[in-house]
Amino acid sequence: MIYKTLIIGVLCGYQFDVRFLETSSLTLRDDYMPHTNSTPLAFCRFRSLFMLASGLLSSVAAHAIDEEFISYAQNEIAIVNVTLIDGTGTASKLNQTVIIKSGRIEALGSSADISPSASTHIIDGAGKTLIPGLVMMHEHMFYPTGNAHYTEMLYSFPRLYLAGGATTIRTAGTTAPYGDLNLRDAINHGKTMGPDIDVTAPYLNGPGLPILKIKSLRDAQDAKNMMQYWDQEGVTSYKAYMHIHQDELAQVVSSAHQRSRKVTGHLCSITYKEAAELGIDNLEHGFFAATDFVKDKKKDECPGSDLHQSLVDLDINAPEVDALIALLVSKNVALTSTLTVFETYTQGRPKAYPLALEALIPQVREQYETQWQKIAEQENATWPIVFKKMMQLEKKFVEAGGMLMAGTDPTGYGGVIAGFSNQRQIELLVEAGFAIEQAIKIATLNGATFLERDNNVGSIEAGKQADLVLINGELINDTSAIRNMAVVFKNGVGYNVSKIVQRTKSVVGLH
Ligand SMILES: [Zn+2]
Repeated sequence: MIYKTLIIGVLCGYQFDVRFLETSSLTLRDDYMPHTNSTPLAFCRFRSLFMLASGLLSSVAAHAIDEEFISYAQNEIAIVNVTLIDGTGTASKLNQTVIIKSGRIEALGSSADISPSASTHIIDGAGKTLIPGLVMMHEHMFYPTGNAHYTEMLYSFPRLYLAGGATTIRTAGTTAPYGDLNLRDAINHGKTMGPDIDVTAPYLNGPGLPILKIKSLRDAQDAKNMMQYWDQEGVTSYKAYMHIHQDELAQVVSSAHQRSRKVTGHLCSITYKEAAELGIDNLEHGFFAATDFVKDKKKDECPGSDLHQSLVDLDINAPEVDALIALLVSKNVALTSTLTVFETYTQGRPKAYPLALEALIPQVREQYETQWQKIAEQENATWPIVFKKMMQLEKKFVEAGGMLMAGTDPTGYGGVIAGFSNQRQIELLVEAGFAIEQAIKIATLNGATFLERDNNVGSIEAGKQADLVLINGELINDTSAIRNMAVVFKNGVGYNVSKIVQRTKSVVGLH
């Protein structure tokens, strides 16, 4: 059997290289569109034929590189007697059966009503919870490695995002666009494992940021030129950044919308109100980056530390807060909650999960632990006040009809670690007052809807791609069960979470 697998792997590797070259002659657009209605592209066609010929009918072919991490690759799988949270926000259902066939969700319903056929591989879901694969909207491939430097984790992060339940991500800004683009294509072509990726163009920022890898825009025309270039290279979304000016953002929004692309922003020079009126589609970091409440804010200028103080002083029930929420809702501006990164600045909060710390190389782990301790010992800290208020504002925004999505933002000083933080973000949404079903919807269907992939991913519905997370434990009774993901299915292929985590230790910070 081992011998046979080896031969298949070699064959597949060879055929794959051929196919990879072939696809590069396709038009770019075909190449970088998310692979919606396809059977898993991660599989080698020729290998499928070979396996068919070998009589391995029950096996779905997966690329050799991932084989050691795959728990389930059968063509027909039934998860039975499982508690289901389907991503639509409706109440969880007990004793459900979900049938996966050829990478898609074939059927689902009460276990009493659905009987899998004899050839189906059965997974007992008793005592477990099934949720959709997470659709996370602020998942960079870089990580802070010290002194305002960010280093790409193109090896560890895609694995850890997948192991943390994320099957679709948006990068929300990049410092290595070709790295993200090539990674996306490699995943789409089955050369490596990871989530499906919506690649955001390099940051569209004005002057003033002390990060060497980020360009400063000269003017609106420069923004237009830059977008045109990255559009040709295959990005699928844009992000305006802190120091951008209003005339540049206006250009960015108009250029993106002409291409039917969306723009998000992490802003400080421009208020949320101004950005909404300029037609932005999405704002990052909940209300943490809203400079709307800074007194005497100057046009096109970041207010520095006055932003934090304005949030410390903010009355979240003031009429101007309600007015801003109403404006964002009326303009369909979605917000991305990234409570995970702000938690790392907030006193009295737990450290990153122990398993997450084990993923770090010693140098960045020490950097994180030292900084965490410093923050913990700070006197008269105001972050706990702001953190709580911002949680309440995210809840208020949703109650007012706003579209909230989830992301993690692995920046700060290193406490936000791919995958583990995706789970933490869900815990924090529940802490903010969302029912677990709502929190899951925020982290799945809402993102999929925004990305216009909701006909294919984002919820557990018949016909959709089988992107699913099987969790040990009853998530409805214990939110921390989210940390106990057992299997992450992408395109119907089940990846062994603990194996990936075990094999991705002491690497974050390195590659
Ligand atoms: Zn970010």
